[in-house]
Amino acid sequence: MTRKRRILVTSALPYANGPIHLGYVLEAVQTDIWARFQRLRGHECHYVCADDTHGTPIMLKAQAEGIGAEQLIERVHAEHRRDLAGMLIGLDNFGSTHSPENQALCDRTYRALRAAGHIAKRRIKQAFDLQANMFLPDRYVKGSCPNCGAADQYGDSCEVCGATYTPADLKDPISVVSGTPPVERESDHYFFRLSSFEESLKSWVGGGAVQRSVAHKLQEWFTQGLKDWDISRDAPYFGFEIADAPGKYFYVWFDAPIGYLASFAQLCARTPLLFDDFFAADSRAELHHFIGKDILYFHALFWPAVLQGAGMRRPSGVHAHGFLTINGQKMSKSRGTFITAQRYLQHFPPEYLRYYFAAKLGPGIDDMDLNLEDFAARLNADIVGKLVNIASRCAGFIAKSAAGRLAAALPEPKLYADFAAAGDALAAAYEGRDYAGAMREIMALADRANQYIDEHKPWLLAKQAGRAAEVQGICTQGLNLFRALMIYLKPVLPAMAGKAERFFEEAQEWTWDDAAKPLIAAPIRAYEPLALRLDPAAVRRLIEPEAAGAAAPAPAPASAAALSIDEFARIDLRVARIVAAELVAGADKLLKLRVDLGEIGERDVFAGIRAAYDPQSLVGRLTVVVANLAPRKMRFGVSQGMVLAAGPGGREVFLLSADAGAAPGMRIK
Ligand SMILES: [Zn+2]
Repeated sequence: MTRKRRILVTSALPYANGPIHLGYVLEAVQTDIWARFQRLRGHECHYVCADDTHGTPIMLKAQAEGIGAEQLIERVHAEHRRDLAGMLIGLDNFGSTHSPENQALCDRTYRALRAAGHIAKRRIKQAFDLQANMFLPDRYVKGSCPNCGAADQYGDSCEVCGATYTPADLKDPISVVSGTPPVERESDHYFFRLSSFEESLKSWVGGGAVQRSVAHKLQEWFTQGLKDWDISRDAPYFGFEIADAPGKYFYVWFDAPIGYLASFAQLCARTPLLFDDFFAADSRAELHHFIGKDILYFHALFWPAVLQGAGMRRPSGVHAHGFLTINGQKMSKSRGTFITAQRYLQHFPPEYLRYYFAAKLGPGIDDMDLNLEDFAARLNADIVGKLVNIASRCAGFIAKSAAGRLAAALPEPKLYADFAAAGDALAAAYEGRDYAGAMREIMALADRANQYIDEHKPWLLAKQAGRAAEVQGICTQGLNLFRALMIYLKPVLPAMAGKAERFFEEAQEWTWDDAAKPLIAAPIRAYEPLALRLDPAAVRRLIEPEAAGAAAPAPAPASAAALSIDEFARIDLRVARIVAAELVAGADKLLKLRVDLGEIGERDVFAGIRAAYDPQSLVGRLTVVVANLAPRKMRFGVSQGMVLAAGPGGREVFLLSADAGAAPGMRIK
């Protein structure tokens, strides 16, 4: 056994502004596997997290619901807690950034930074909403892009031409909160002097705390020059008021990472753990953060600098991962692919997704795709077809021909020794967050175990008189190979491993080293199936729109007059493939679609779906078009048809589609 490490790990904080979706589950699973692996290896590893609860969006959302912000974040916290538990995320503490512990730590951190000369007070200009009586964050001012003129753009950047600017540059700016034009006002803000940490950050990065690809990205930021960081916001704001600056609040991004410390402080309060053992400047414990690659600036620049500036230790590792796509596309509410943890858990066990994520998670920051067909196929092939198959083929014979007892020796100790020897390489893969490599190696071993059983055919020997001892030996060998693999998979499949521990009548929970020695001359229990086959058709239910099934379809409005079948037949509805989609300059609700109608040819159609769909995401998909609508001349061109969609409008518009197999031009009857 190597030296016992003391480790604290965190996942980034889920924002208390909505449900936990599978993108966040990916991160929690990645962290949880690593934490469980460390514990299985015998290290002391604590895993804490907290809800990120502050900021303007939460404040406005609570106002819109007519409830207090505290009430909103409490409700969301209960949902997040339920979903994380449902996914078997083994958190030691799940706190909230809106806690007294966090307020005290924010205050302490801020005072320490100020005392050390790291805080500067500066006067800034910012957009102000006279009607709502509040300063407006950049995303709360909209207007026309100063560069290309595109309407309805945010105050920080243009989604059409990509230009970046400040809200003061926008043409015809409007406050999103009240709909009135904002004015510019001055206000005193507090800045963290990030620029003075450049050299120490460079040496921290050079020390291997981040992945190599991340170090390259950070180098770009160093080259651009580090800017000081505005850590204050004006009232009204939902957050912590700065102690000696009335009306000024800590910016949510200042108090959020301190929330890791606060959550750990809550754990310390109910255990013998000491906070300073982990956070004093000279702490020898390890601190690891798992985050999405979109929040690197905060975690790999601001955060280590804030910790150091306040006299605390810096992270041992900041580990970034890529984004999750569903069937090759960004998760999207309008496409029904914004899959929440709850929706997933209504259909499938958590460990299926945990395994799928593990099988695809490498140590880098590449995006990961959850392809639903591949999900079902891989689960059925690996977990059901390979892993569980080993146990289900052997267990019955031990019960029937060996009175539920494993043999006193393995017939092929060399084969078992190979499985035991694989432990070191597997541990190195887990440690380096190369879970995909570990899963590949484990499944290759599962293949060898199945091959062994295929060669020795216990089901044939069991029918022959006088060969019971041989059958017992083969099945003892098979079950021990299965046992070693389950030990290696315990970080990924904690519930299945727990069942397997009970099946093997283990006196204690497994540790990693238990795989080194086989279990012989011991009783085992009756075998119960550990995993069931996944129905590929059922997987498709994950991406139906949330609304489907939640309520019966609304009855047709009484005013809709009955239509004769002949009248209906006059409408020429066709399957169409969208071959191109583009924005329309000067029309902020429209997309121009080029649709292929097969034998009819290609047509241009304008559709009011811009708020709901990203043009690129539409290219290639099938939809339904009214092909015999009289052409309509519009300001931007002629529309030669109409695509069919449902929903009240805005972002809530859902394009109809045709199942795979339908071809462009097919008549809909
Ligand atoms: Zn623009």
